[in-house]
Amino acid sequence: MGAPQERAYFRYNRVGKPYLVRRIRVGNQRKEQWIPLDEIDRETLATALKIKDEVKEQTVQVPCTNPKCKKTIPMTKKQLEEFFISSKKRYDMIIFPFCSTACRAEMLAQHGGGPTDHQG
Ligand SMILES: [Zn+2]
Repeated sequence: MGAPQERAYFRYNRVGKPYLVRRIRVGNQRKEQWIPLDEIDRETLATALKIKDEVKEQTVQVPCTNPKCKKTIPMTKKQLEEFFISSKKRYDMIIFPFCSTACRAEMLAQHGGGPTDHQG
């Protein structure tokens, strides 16, 4: 039995009404609580989401996963997010970005030929 874990995020229901969804996990049990946001919170949420979208378009320099390599890969936060989400969905593991296939091949060779798995 671990400590209760809680996650909170925003969700829209079918009619576009925003809710704060709290997901609580205690042991093997999962609870979900949908809290509707009132008008003021809705405005705050809209602002927050707008900022989030703007941030997503900003380019960040992602360092190559090969520690011997000093190169960086320019990616928007959106691309970065999609990169991790798609690799998680497709392979059920986190795959880290490399600047080139040569760098990736080098790292894969060091790790016995398999993609790098990352817990968490
Ligand atoms: Zn590299």
